[in-house]
Amino acid sequence: MEEPKICSLETFWHLLQNGPQKVLLLDYDGTLAPFHKKRDKAFPYPGVRKILEEIQQSGKTRLVIVSGRNIKDIVPLLGLKQLPEIWGGHGFEHLLPDTSVQRQKIPATCSLNLQKAFLWAKEHGHEHNCEQKTSSLAFHWRGLKEETKEQLEQKVSRAWEPLTMGHNLEIQPFDGGLELRCAGMHKGDAIKQILDECSKDAMIAYLGDDLTDEDAFKALKGKGLSVLVRDTQRDTLADCWLTPPDELLDFLHHWYRYSTKT
Ligand SMILES: [Mg+2]
Repeated sequence: MEEPKICSLETFWHLLQNGPQKVLLLDYDGTLAPFHKKRDKAFPYPGVRKILEEIQQSGKTRLVIVSGRNIKDIVPLLGLKQLPEIWGGHGFEHLLPDTSVQRQKIPATCSLNLQKAFLWAKEHGHEHNCEQKTSSLAFHWRGLKEETKEQLEQKVSRAWEPLTMGHNLEIQPFDGGLELRCAGMHKGDAIKQILDECSKDAMIAYLGDDLTDEDAFKALKGKGLSVLVRDTQRDTLADCWLTPPDELLDFLHHWYRYSTKT
């Protein structure tokens, strides 16, 4: 992976102002909302809801949330008056602006093995580490000691490896755990579908924090601005790096200002 390039946001804002189509793609956890040990309490940073609602109300931007969470879990946390378009479950679910939901078909063997993986976790006292999603099972260890995390990583990997073999499942690390996921769809695939619907001169930005967002950064390469939102820098394909919440809010306010300038 490459070090982030120094981004020319000034150029981007200028182009955004004149862009015929404006598309803002946002990851949720770690990007719009700080991590919380209780995942159902991970609400957006103060000020995020307000500026997102202003962007929505302007009617100038296609605002899309792209998350690993299930759509039904994001909606109440996000708390926007007007439902945005949401891609959930790393792209397996798609909430359209007309509020209908499209879901990718998940092979029966995948669902069965996700269930087996959860039962294993439950039997070993790790039920509370698990987040069950339509197309995956996430094992969280945020907030635990480094040594405990390493032990859990080995234990979970050993237990889940046999479930992946020949069943279209894969184990992916994320910032704060491991996820057993149905293969065949990731955030980059969701971005590619969105790009297919956009004009060539559309102004697009994607903001994300996690390893799973690298697929989205890759898909957007050369076609839009990718932004790593994180307290500390890391190797990334993103074009630039912002620290939350101040620089994130600054970005969103700039987006509003330049996307609504006539
Ligand atoms: Mg995230």
